Amino acid sequence: MPPLSSHIEPLLSLVAFAFVLSALGWLTFGALLREDRQAIAHWSAFLLLVGVGLWLGALRDEPRAWLPYNGTNLITVTGFALLRRGTEHFMGTPSSDREQWLLIGTVCLAIALLGPAESRAGTRILLAYGAQGYTMARTLWAIRHALRREFGKSAQVSILVPGAFIGGVLLLQALRQAAQLDHPMEMQRTSGSGHALMFAYLFGASMFSFGFMALVTQRLVQRLRQSSQRDALTGVLNRGAIQEALARENQRARQSAGGFALLLLDADRFKSINDQLGHAAGDRALQHLAAVLASQMRDNDRIGRWGGEEFLVLLPAMSMAEACTLADAIVQRIAALPARWKDAPLPLTVSIGVTAWRPDDLDEHGLVERADQALYSAKMAGRNCARSH
Ligand code: GH3
Ligand code: MG
Ligand code: MG
Repeated sequence: MPPLSSHIEPLLSLVAFAFVLSALGWLTFGALLREDRQAIAHWSAFLLLVGVGLWLGALRDEPRAWLPYNGTNLITVTGFALLRRGTEHFMGTPSSDREQWLLIGTVCLAIALLGPAESRAGTRILLAYGAQGYTMARTLWAIRHALRREFGKSAQVSILVPGAFIGGVLLLQALRQAAQLDHPMEMQRTSGSGHALMFAYLFGASMFSFGFMALVTQRLVQRLRQSSQRDALTGVLNRGAIQEALARENQRARQSAGGFALLLLDADRFKSINDQLGHAAGDRALQHLAAVLASQMRDNDRIGRWGGEEFLVLLPAMSMAEACTLADAIVQRIAALPARWKDAPLPLTVSIGVTAWRPDDLDEHGLVERADQALYSAKMAGRNCARSH
């Protein structure tokens, strides 16, 4: 029996150590960050298991013991299953737990039962590499769209390409083994491909860690950015954010001469709701108002909370006439759909001032002032109506 290749053993131990270090890194990252903890725990376990599996592999010797041969395979296959589970948690893609239990469970049982004997090593290796490569490929396939949707194209590429490389290397090993089942391609025997595999593992672990850490950070930044632009009570844009959107839209209109419309909406006699039913009822009414308003909007329209019970609505590419029709519809809808408070309807009406961009609008302040004048006219006309200016 040829002894364990003297070249592969130190490399295996080193790669195993690198995986364990990455696992510790992720554990620290997860403990400090407190976000996406479940995914991070799974990823740490994945790196740790692959590390331990490889380290056991470095202990391979003759006569063969079960643990360094079958144990290595079992542990690394389980590690890949956890990688898939953690990634599903992270991306919010549907869980594959049932398929995994069945597939990984069956593969693991077979690997365990095959024993360390050299005569059955080919089948064992085929199962181990096949399961790892398949799990990797399925993981990438499941998250490909969600990755792009949330993080953009370059993030998608930077995760999928190294992932596909690792999956490809593993599946290739499985295919090569399938083609010659009675010649086991054990790492300690085939030192050339064993080395290549070790470097592929190392590359994969490193790309995985940096890639996913960038995604976790990007998600965090995105959440902070969003919450800094949102009004906490109603969830619509806050004053600063809608002001910015308005300035951008005004700039765009000046450059392309394509107009937009603006609604300034104010709840009627809102003070009396607070006075009669309490501030919490008033808050509920504002949330309801924002929700009804949002249900009337197109994708590119923007709603912002302009002041206490006032909302500003930005309607790109909309004419004055269209905006007036929309404002009338909103007035009617809000009057017809009261919020509920303590099991009773909470009636509320709104007045709306409508205006549209004109080529002589130098900045957005004039526009808002016109909308405000129109709103004043609506209030003067008896409320629960829309007026334009
Ligand atoms: P009008 O029809 O003329 O607009 O009458 P109004 O009572 O709505 O107008 P007014 O400006 O006198 O009162 C607005 C009230 O809105 C006063 C304020 O307490 C209330 N308000 C502003 N922000 C909030 C909020 O976040 N929550 C609650 N519950 N009330 C708010
Ligand atoms: Mg007001
Ligand atoms: Mg009011």
